[in-house]
Amino acid sequence: YAPLAETDPEVQNIIDKETWRQFSGLELIASENLTSRATMEANGSILTNKYSEGLPGARYYGGNEWIDELEVLCQKRALQAFHLDPTKWGVNVQPYSGSTANFAALTALLQPQDRLMGLGLPDGGHLTHGYYTAKKKMTASSIYFQSLPYGIDSSTHLVDYEKLAAQAKIFKPQLLICGASAYPRDWDYAALRKIADEHGAFVMADIAHTSGLIAAGELADPFQYCDVVTTTTHKTLRGPRAGLIFFRKDTDKAKDLEKRVNDAVFPACQGGPHNNTIAGIATALLQACQPTWKAYAKQVIINAQTLGKELVAHGYKLQTQGTDNHLVLWDLRPLGLTGSKLEKLCDLVGITINKNAVSGDASAQVPGGIRLGTSALTSRNMLEADIKVVADFLHRAVQLALVLQKEAGSKLLKDFVRVATFEDEGREGARLVRELRT
Ligand code: PLP
Repeated sequence: YAPLAETDPEVQNIIDKETWRQFSGLELIASENLTSRATMEANGSILTNKYSEGLPGARYYGGNEWIDELEVLCQKRALQAFHLDPTKWGVNVQPYSGSTANFAALTALLQPQDRLMGLGLPDGGHLTHGYYTAKKKMTASSIYFQSLPYGIDSSTHLVDYEKLAAQAKIFKPQLLICGASAYPRDWDYAALRKIADEHGAFVMADIAHTSGLIAAGELADPFQYCDVVTTTTHKTLRGPRAGLIFFRKDTDKAKDLEKRVNDAVFPACQGGPHNNTIAGIATALLQACQPTWKAYAKQVIINAQTLGKELVAHGYKLQTQGTDNHLVLWDLRPLGLTGSKLEKLCDLVGITINKNAVSGDASAQVPGGIRLGTSALTSRNMLEADIKVVADFLHRAVQLALVLQKEAGSKLLKDFVRVATFEDEGREGARLVRELRT
């Protein structure tokens, strides 16, 4: 029972360094957040020791009295957080992550080689929505199912529902997936339902990114129109890393979905649930059920909109010119800068961002944009005035990147590192790095 610092100082040291990185830097990755201390305590608890294959009341192992109570509590809070009537909706809280939740949902809804359509990855969709390239089917969702991506309009950058309807007429999907990893606007779930109904297809919303905002009622409600809703628990929802699958129980089409989803999670795709994680999810969901949650979610969106406005005021281009949710997609191509260059530079000055494809990128390997999200900064209680400062930091980072690009040409990355580590004190770049660091 010796503490970690004594048992394994090497791992403790790595945790300490990462703790410092998270708290000293600015976290702008749209898929990340900072969990509460309570959620981390639950997630790091003794519940990790227990096996509990099966569902509450029907386990393959003994000793699950308290685990059953926990899982039922987590299910209850999940339905409550999304304002769902338990006679109409059910939930499985066991998925280990968003990807496994999605694969289990596909396993529940489809037969092998059935047809699905999801938003294309270059247009903001997720790998698990059927992604493949001309060279390779590299995700289970395209290996085991036939998939066809739909896309965004090349001028508005909004989902092109008309074109999607026309594609669906030819492809005749059994499943339409909506939801995205990099789409700054809300979804028209009614339009998707209408298209799906023309082909007798299911509609599944993957609300991994926006679930915290949907729970707060700040975005359109997918539960009104979808058969299945999946989500991760660690993005805007502020929980530990895991997934949830919600399934409808009240329509003819959905009549056996409860069994199909539960069987797909276990035994089809997973083994024993991670009970420590389920405890962390339950605690996070309790927080999402509080009246304060709405204020948090509202502020996440206001902060993202403020960040967007500030970047536009600095003369930068955003995909769709702004946002309805927690993220903005920043198109760097007019500056002649790639997303990976700005990401690397920001890493050196304690700002964590990620490169992202923007519509019309010539190559998926060299994304021309950056995705920025405000969930984590809002969890640190940052308001509009703070976000304006962050936008200014980003502006200065771009200026620095442009100076270095001009100086360094193809050796750009090497030069970033050299100036940021003060090896070359004489350069303009080094001065700017010092300024940014302070
Ligand atoms: N679905 C969407 C829309 C996502 O953005 C992500 C991850 O970013 C996932 C699913 C996968 O989640 P995980 O990384 O937990 O497997």
